[in-house]
Amino acid sequence: MIPSFLSDRKALLEGTTTLLALVQRSLDAIDATNDEVNALIDVYREESLSEAKRIQAKVDKGEAGPLAGAIFSIKDLFAHKNHRLQSASKILDTFTSVYDATVVERILAADGLILGRANQDEFGMGSSNEYSVYGPCKHPEDYQRVPGGSSGGSAASIAAGYCNLSLGSDTGGSVRQPAAFCGIVGLKPSYGRISRYGLAAYASSLDTVGCFGATVEDVAACIEVIAGQDVHDMTTLSTEVPSYLQELQDRDSTTKSLRFGINPSWFSEGLDPEIKHQIEWILDGLKEQGHEVKEIAMPAQSASLSTYYILATAEASSNLARYDGIHAGYRSAQSEGAKLEDVYTLSRSEGFGPEVKRRILLGTYVLSKGYYDAYYGKAQKVRRLIQREYEEAFQQVDAMILPTTPTTAFKAGEKVDDPLSMYLNDIYTLAANLSGITAMSVPIGRHSNGMPIGIQIQTPVSDELGCFQVGTLIENLSSKEKQ
Ligand code: GLN
Repeated sequence: MIPSFLSDRKALLEGTTTLLALVQRSLDAIDATNDEVNALIDVYREESLSEAKRIQAKVDKGEAGPLAGAIFSIKDLFAHKNHRLQSASKILDTFTSVYDATVVERILAADGLILGRANQDEFGMGSSNEYSVYGPCKHPEDYQRVPGGSSGGSAASIAAGYCNLSLGSDTGGSVRQPAAFCGIVGLKPSYGRISRYGLAAYASSLDTVGCFGATVEDVAACIEVIAGQDVHDMTTLSTEVPSYLQELQDRDSTTKSLRFGINPSWFSEGLDPEIKHQIEWILDGLKEQGHEVKEIAMPAQSASLSTYYILATAEASSNLARYDGIHAGYRSAQSEGAKLEDVYTLSRSEGFGPEVKRRILLGTYVLSKGYYDAYYGKAQKVRRLIQREYEEAFQQVDAMILPTTPTTAFKAGEKVDDPLSMYLNDIYTLAANLSGITAMSVPIGRHSNGMPIGIQIQTPVSDELGCFQVGTLIENLSSKEKQ
């Protein structure tokens, strides 16, 4: 049973449980399986128990913050004062944060409890959580399979019952894809909706902070607290953050007829037929409820994979230049007395893993003289076309509906030596990052192989509320099927 934040909170506020009991439940689950699953790479046991007492005292006095009852894991790339931050890389071997990321600060101020640090692919580069200095994270329901990535540890830590909320980052699908693989909800908010201050950067024009939870309402409750403008991140949007939970409840009874769009080419070759069938079942259910479903062709989307892997690697090569063994990051023991350039070369060669090196090389290439216009410049133009397609689509519909992933959770080792087939797993998630819109994965049942299936909902920039609203509609439909 996946723990739900809002059910735990309700029990806590009604006095039928205590925060200490909730933390103990988490620790018991961790002790039972984390050695194998490897979702959490650090567990703050003592700190969690003392935090639980402090927050419980506030609950008892009726002064609990909006996240009291939340037990979080956070991906290994958020700054959390006096805690390690390693982005699953050897290059950040000895790094301890000296300040809190804005999202961490907001969680703590709202009485959320951070239980531990979650495994991930190194610097967020990957789709299976197999590229980690801590070793792979495994799917909690089948240890032969991957939990998805790059925020694999975040998703697995909820699916395994270690916590009820988790923070991840989504640059090209890293929240939605593991959420789909692990059978939970994962939101990638609009670009700029949530501050990136204190997040170890991968590709700055695509990076977003996302949240995982058991239900759409759980995620909405978290986003309500952590979203909003931040003086430390000039890319944050100034649009007001609504009270999502309240709005969801108010809108529930007055749900108007909605218009959904599907791009026919999303449902053609490459998509697992059972995933296709399950999504069609949901679309039929929406039509039966009086909503409209229409086809919208989005041809530029077919270029999202190549566009993403040019822009993301270009930005990564620049962001990761700071880890040079001198200003920041691991320094090779062999570089003692070596020339400056050799210090860089040795430290970076030993400190970065193979996938990160591949991205830095590719990114440096597409930015280099003679190739810049052909690759980087062209990719920027295609990105604009993809954005325009969404702008036009959202003039006709309220939300786009599509798969989150072409397959369910795949077997460990299956794609790790074949980068292209790994990259193809992101085919449905990348365009949302390229265009900055809102996107969320919601679980909709199971495949005959036993693994969960996710559906993706996309809404315009700043329309997280619309995304949550559609998400609850779909949640209700898919729970009807289960009955
Ligand atoms: N799998 C994609 C990549 O490797 C997306 C990663 C992410 O969203 N951080 O780039």
